Amino acid sequence: MKELVVISGKGGTGKTSLVASFAALAENAVLVDCDVDAADLHLIMAPTLRKREDFWCGHEAAIRQKDCIRCGACLARCRFDAVKMTGTDSGGASFSIQPNACEGCGVCVWSCPVKAIDFPERLSGEWYVSDTRHGPMVHARLIPGGENSGKLVSKVKETARTLAPSHKADFLLVDGPPGVGCAVIASISGASRVLIVTEPTLSGEHDMARVLELTRHFHIPAAVCVNKWDLNGEMAERIEAEALRAGALLAGRVRYDRGVTAAQLQGRAVVEVNTGPLAEDIRAVWNKVSQFGE
Ligand code: SF4
Ligand code: SF4
Repeated sequence: MKELVVISGKGGTGKTSLVASFAALAENAVLVDCDVDAADLHLIMAPTLRKREDFWCGHEAAIRQKDCIRCGACLARCRFDAVKMTGTDSGGASFSIQPNACEGCGVCVWSCPVKAIDFPERLSGEWYVSDTRHGPMVHARLIPGGENSGKLVSKVKETARTLAPSHKADFLLVDGPPGVGCAVIASISGASRVLIVTEPTLSGEHDMARVLELTRHFHIPAAVCVNKWDLNGEMAERIEAEALRAGALLAGRVRYDRGVTAAQLQGRAVVEVNTGPLAEDIRAVWNKVSQFGE
């Protein structure tokens, strides 16, 4: 089974739209949405939920008021200003922890003289296994402020890999997170190839270079696709030249076309509703990346 991860240096490059079309074009794929901070593949794939699990990660401190002797040690030690004091020292102050500010470092737990601080695991998100019209899909949602999207991404990918044999999948098609952070590293880890989607702008060029550096570091073959290339043909050429210099494969170009928005509004992949040049561009990219590395 081939594992294709589609990523971009920043959000909004059209990555998810391409993945949805690839899902329609692949004959047998397991879909994975690793963009857990801003998941949106489900908007096109309309998944039917089969399984939902909580994702617990990190810890958060909580003071048991009945055991607290109000010494203030936790307030003095917390470097994240997560401990709140109400009242005054003389008038019987009380202490509480603001969950959104707590970083789960555990220093207050360690410093409390009467062990009055609980330190349970923190609910950070949910992950799901669903059915879609183009095969099974594993996806997730990180609670705003939730910890460790990289760990959630790993969980989602690991689940998708275990599903693949029973579905006799040829492809694991992964919609990766934008950027070069730990969630991206988790999403490309173990991939057989990566497709970088970029736009013909200066920032697109810069972002692509950073992502290419990352894929080179992990020795993962990379291909580059310039989306909306005709908005700046000169820049598209420059980006492609740079991609070639960095050893990447050119996967093709996709033109700017309102058909992308029209398909999104219908909750469909472009190739499901469009038979024009836009869909042809996307098919050509799929043909190239699906055979890339063979
Ligand atoms: S666990 Fe760390 S961040 Fe959270 S309240 Fe305690 S000291 Fe502050
Ligand atoms: S360190 Fe413990 S006893 Fe002291 S104020 Fe904090 S929770 Fe209460």
